[in-house]
Amino acid sequence: MSLYLKYRPQNFASLVGQDHAKKTIQSALKSNSLSHAYLFCGPRGTGKTSLARILAKGLNCKNPVGDMEPCNKCEICTSINAGKLVDLIEIDAASNRGIDEIRELREKIVFAPSQAKTKVYIIDEVHMLTKEAFNALLKTLEEPPAHAYFVLATTEAHKIPETIVSRCQQFSFSRISISDTSHRLQEIADNEGASYEKEALDLIAKLSAGGLRDAIGLLEQMMTTGEVTQERVSERLGLTGSEHLEKFFKYLLERKPLKAIELLNQIKVKGKSIPQFLQELISHFRGHMLINLGNSQDTRIILGFIEIFIEARRQIDLSPIPELPIEVAVIKACEFNSDESEEAEKKPEVKVKIETIEKKKEEKTAKMKESETMPPASDRGELQIEQIKKDWQRVLEAIDTPFIKMSLTDGEPVRYESGILTIAFKSNTFMDKITNAANQAVVQKAFEKVLGNRLSLNLEVKKMELSPLTKKTNKEAEKKPSAVEMAAEVFGIKKS
Ligand SMILES: [Zn+2]
Repeated sequence: MSLYLKYRPQNFASLVGQDHAKKTIQSALKSNSLSHAYLFCGPRGTGKTSLARILAKGLNCKNPVGDMEPCNKCEICTSINAGKLVDLIEIDAASNRGIDEIRELREKIVFAPSQAKTKVYIIDEVHMLTKEAFNALLKTLEEPPAHAYFVLATTEAHKIPETIVSRCQQFSFSRISISDTSHRLQEIADNEGASYEKEALDLIAKLSAGGLRDAIGLLEQMMTTGEVTQERVSERLGLTGSEHLEKFFKYLLERKPLKAIELLNQIKVKGKSIPQFLQELISHFRGHMLINLGNSQDTRIILGFIEIFIEARRQIDLSPIPELPIEVAVIKACEFNSDESEEAEKKPEVKVKIETIEKKKEEKTAKMKESETMPPASDRGELQIEQIKKDWQRVLEAIDTPFIKMSLTDGEPVRYESGILTIAFKSNTFMDKITNAANQAVVQKAFEKVLGNRLSLNLEVKKMELSPLTKKTNKEAEKKPSAVEMAAEVFGIKKS
């Protein structure tokens, strides 16, 4: 017998979560005011059919105990637990027999129950019923015999006709919390005498996303093949198991872009393709994200990494140099990490900056939309730097050549004077990609398309706050190289 069946909750108290539904049903049983039809909606593995069976026992148990709990000892309870009570009819609407079973239901429902006090019909995955079956069911629900009760269960409440919904008392089953799931897993593991790490159970709970059935299933798989350790759970789910991914992640956290890119080259030499590596890397980050849930600082860094590397994945097919997007991502990730790690507390504005990444994005989109509805700048008189800044994103979008676009993302428009736009880059490396006339023409064309103006371009590297001399005496700066330095290091450019 599977662990899930073995540990299926047999009374209200042992059902994890869903307190609202449990309490309402228990008090209705107590006051003998149970509704004849319930609709249980919610994700799989959250206890819908378990609660339906407990309800059936509660209705029919010969010696209910405490708060209308089924005794699990009387002949009714035991035969329900054994799946043998003829008055408890379970219908799987997803099966081919669904329609026949509903027809049968209609024919037989009028007959009194044979063993129990009442007949209970549990219709699982009820949204799968055909229109005809729903109509047949509706007629029954409109006038149910006094001895008949229904529990309809579904993962997709929106697919149930309103006519049916309106006949039922509805409960929404929520995903079971990580701590509740983990706690239940621990009870089971203890009871089975399994050897486990608490962290491994927490990880299983996180990964099962609120579905207890899946969580117990995974625990069982782990238990039958060895010790339940965090490492094995991660491995089982393909989260780790490759040392180089963890190393790569570590280099990003330590802001060692050169090391990360060296590692990348080693991986390539070993015959792994860059897109394949990126794919694995992103799911590796996902694993870390899930493990770190609850630690907002770490999660934020990892979310940043995920965002950066997903962007790299997107760019990779467009890039003339397949390595470039991932190299850019490495630098961005190291920079991102520095912004928000240990300094975050000292510099509140930095923290805010990170927290609003999403917001910024929204604003960006809003701005883009706004400017889409505006006439080109030339139609509104003289072009201003503010307008250029505002339309910058759209200009980038208008560039078809990926590496030009990518290089430009390192820069930003800073001045516009007598027809000359100055773009300041954080890094020489990116600026250099745009210095030749052909590439500048591509950029100019994009400006013309978006703004309606032909601009001349002046490119410069942004001045950093610290000169190389002061940097040497400044420990802080040594510990945290600037993006320019990192890029220079990565691309092998000597500082002048
Ligand atoms: Zn009983």
